[in-house]
Amino acid sequence: MNNEEFEAAGQQMLKYVIDYHKKIRERRVLPDVKPGFMRKLLPDHAPQTPEKWDQVYKDIERVVMPGVTHWHHPHFYAYFPTANSYPALLADILSDTIACIGFTWASCPSCTELEVIVMDWLAKVLDLPERFLSTSPGFGGGVIQGTASEATLVAVLSARTKFLNRIKEKNPGMEDGVALTKLIAYTSRQSHSSVERAYMIALVKYRILETDEKQSLRGDTLKKAIDEDRAKGLTPFFICATLGTTSSCAFDNCKEIGLVSEQEDIWMHIDAAYAGSSFICPEYRPLLDGVEHADSFNFNPHKWMQVTFDCSTMWVKNSKEISQAFSVEPVYLKHENEGHMPDYRHWHVPLGRRFRSLKLWFVLRLFGVKGLQDIIREDIKLAHKFEDYIRKDPRFEIFGEVIMALVCFRLKGSNEINEKLIKNINDDGRIHMVPSNVDGTFFLRLSVCTTRTKNHDIDFAWKVVSELADNLLKTNN
Ligand SMILES: *Cc1c(COP(=O)(O)O)cnc(C)c1O
Repeated sequence: MNNEEFEAAGQQMLKYVIDYHKKIRERRVLPDVKPGFMRKLLPDHAPQTPEKWDQVYKDIERVVMPGVTHWHHPHFYAYFPTANSYPALLADILSDTIACIGFTWASCPSCTELEVIVMDWLAKVLDLPERFLSTSPGFGGGVIQGTASEATLVAVLSARTKFLNRIKEKNPGMEDGVALTKLIAYTSRQSHSSVERAYMIALVKYRILETDEKQSLRGDTLKKAIDEDRAKGLTPFFICATLGTTSSCAFDNCKEIGLVSEQEDIWMHIDAAYAGSSFICPEYRPLLDGVEHADSFNFNPHKWMQVTFDCSTMWVKNSKEISQAFSVEPVYLKHENEGHMPDYRHWHVPLGRRFRSLKLWFVLRLFGVKGLQDIIREDIKLAHKFEDYIRKDPRFEIFGEVIMALVCFRLKGSNEINEKLIKNINDDGRIHMVPSNVDGTFFLRLSVCTTRTKNHDIDFAWKVVSELADNLLKTNN
């Protein structure tokens, strides 16, 4: 493809992107396909000689779109949001154009420097404690990870190295493998599956702690577990607290957990993958209180802050603890300016990294903090609108509390009837939701996911839910 061909195809693609967004309502939110549908549409081998762009372009609608779940459809209410915005799209075009691999400062200075600055900007928007800023006197700073799962893993592996070293200092001659058996980590039953996975990958013992009646992990529960484990000769070293759990958007008590973590001298990581974006609004910022006790904090602007996947922002108080855990020094990666700016290759698992700060930068500038706050507030308002419908209908009940833009609800009655209801909703296909289950209670989740979802869409979602509930209750009686 030469420059002229790229220009023509690029214009066509851009037009496609705009039309896709404009006319997304005309599509079915959930695809109507069976596993294996695509094999029938494609040859079983790659072409030997170049095809024409037109042929490829035509296959977007013929091959790809029939099997797309439209996450940016106004009637998509499943999981949590994944952001999509024109500013982020523009930045990704530029990032793909520069196409650098910014593993060290020297490998592309702008890639590192913009990330350092924009992460400081965002830390200030969130009113994070000074110690998380790169400009603080210590070794604080931010880094863009691909996902919250990677951020948690990086925190666990860094803490593991720190505490293994401590155990070995106290027990000269002890082997790593033996020291490892002494470590124990904690999280709550409601935390994301990626936390347990990080513990499994790190080969550390861990305990899943019970929450209170609001699905919130409390300080005394953690303290009790730590005491029990110390009595067994173990070394508690890590707690992952969650602000905005995936199942029901519950909030752990980070103030209490933070105080215990500090007293007991263990690493506290906070996973606020979804809810973290809301902390840019002063009225929701108190939910982040306790972060001053944390060693690391992470949230996903790619969920609810208009930055396309992947952009998971992580801050640490002491970046040395990360870079020491991950530092390997081959000659070909050394450069003469080491030590002045971060070499981000020491801050995460892969070596390669994209120029992801561009999209965060474009989004912060083209929406402004105010614009991003407005979106969060509007989504939460829409969630409360749906909550009102549920509360006014005596057949239904709310599960938990509506704090962010997630409404957990169920038909009063058995889990089975609610399982039928969600199946009927998704089979019907006009709106899309997923269910969850907390401590044996099965419920439906309506998560406001796109800026395209408006008041009348919430009316429509309620119409669909109540109509399908009518039908279900009729046939069940
Ligand atoms: C979505 C979510 C995750 C996983 O996010 P990834 O970036 O996909 O790894 C982790 N924790 C919580 C609380 C989440 O809601």
